[in-house]
Amino acid sequence: MAIPFLQTVLVGTYVVRQRLAGRKRYPLVLMLEPLFRCNLACAGCGKIDYPDEILNKRLPLADALHAVDECGAPVVSIAGGEPLLHKELPEIVKGIIERRKFVYLCTNALLMMKHLHKYKPSPFFVWSVHLDGDKEMHDKSVCQDGVYERAVEAIKAAKALGFRVNINCTLFNNSEPERVAAFFDTLAPMGVDGITVSPGYAYERAPDQQHFLNRTKTKELFRDIFRRGNNGRNWSFSQSSLFLDFLAGNQEYHCTPWGNPTRTVFGWQRPCYLLGEGYAGTFRELMEETDWDAYGTGNYEKCANCMVHSGYEATAVNDAVAHPIKAAITAMRGMRTTGPMVPEIPLQAQRPAQYMFERQVKEQLAQMHGAEPLKKAAGR
Ligand code: SF4
Repeated sequence: MAIPFLQTVLVGTYVVRQRLAGRKRYPLVLMLEPLFRCNLACAGCGKIDYPDEILNKRLPLADALHAVDECGAPVVSIAGGEPLLHKELPEIVKGIIERRKFVYLCTNALLMMKHLHKYKPSPFFVWSVHLDGDKEMHDKSVCQDGVYERAVEAIKAAKALGFRVNINCTLFNNSEPERVAAFFDTLAPMGVDGITVSPGYAYERAPDQQHFLNRTKTKELFRDIFRRGNNGRNWSFSQSSLFLDFLAGNQEYHCTPWGNPTRTVFGWQRPCYLLGEGYAGTFRELMEETDWDAYGTGNYEKCANCMVHSGYEATAVNDAVAHPIKAAITAMRGMRTTGPMVPEIPLQAQRPAQYMFERQVKEQLAQMHGAEPLKKAAGR
């Protein structure tokens, strides 16, 4: 596994402290989305379907760092949109590192070469470059030719400067196990330190609705991939072994969305990184006033097919802290790719999906317009 020792120790200590304090729910990774605007329009993305006024909104530096302090999670994943479009991003990253939190800066890498000089290598900083496969797979996934080559060029340049570089890879139902395995084989020679892999979430606003995986297909796909890489041991994943074992159908986990709380330009997003079903003004309000039991696979139709790391990695980390021997054996032996899978969560009792995107956009626009006269009155 590609999680550095310092991070394992600091995150492990944090989790043990939370457990000793008797906290039932606590954050592990803050998902910070300081903007929705992107310079790509990927077929499987459900994050950028907003009017320009919203896409032009930015989370200011002070608000971003306040979110980090409010939340207290030991890891911050900066996503978007494309974070490198945010002018204050270098200061945001610097502020998070100064707080001794681990920063994963997710980027499609199109602007990375231009911006590398604004960042410094640090044990607390990782570039997380979006790569969904080899040249043909990735360029198809992001709907633009030439993106793979630019990402690889940026990865090599960042490595030459001494940065830690991971890739984040999303898989869909048209992913070919043989080809994904071959792609993973190319990453270490390229200098990539770690792989974060996840099945795509079926965003209701994504342009391509045909290629999302259901849970059974997800487990079969991951078994087929891991099998081709010595049960996954050939590759350096930046994820817990138990989460990967869950993807291979061997762990019966329930979603813990509070483990990856999400702060966007709208506020604290309920309930998770993938679903925007309302917003809280403060982190405390998010944690205390969200009806968490209303979400998760088996509880809500929109969660039925989800096995995404933002919902289940925190569950796996908690399990690893509670059962370290099981986690160590899985890391040593790799993920099991044969034999029966754990039973699937029944869906009969789930509540039906609610569709609230249009209403939320209207509300956000109304708030933005409502704020204008106040700013003018205050002389700003
Ligand atoms: S299962 Fe969890 S992470 Fe997945 S969409 Fe539902 S609440 Fe979000």
